[in-house]
Amino acid sequence: MLRQMTVSEHWTEVLRCPDCALTGVAVLSQPKGSDSVFVETLPAGFKAVTSKYGDTFYCEACNRPASGVVPPAMSFRST
Ligand SMILES: [Zn+2]
Repeated sequence: MLRQMTVSEHWTEVLRCPDCALTGVAVLSQPKGSDSVFVETLPAGFKAVTSKYGDTFYCEACNRPASGVVPPAMSFRST
């Protein structure tokens, strides 16, 4: 098994559009010792916009910045 990714940190971020409530999960990585964050997986309906704070995710349809991590409680919908 190749171990070529050992120098990168990987994590996921749950995105949610404040306008249309579209949600998606982005997979990000950051090589150790680097300030650059790479988008490994971009959820459908979202686009990444690079800013001075790093990549920000926007809803493609609404062109609104997606909020960051959704609190775990939000995933339990009582309909
Ligand atoms: Zn939207």
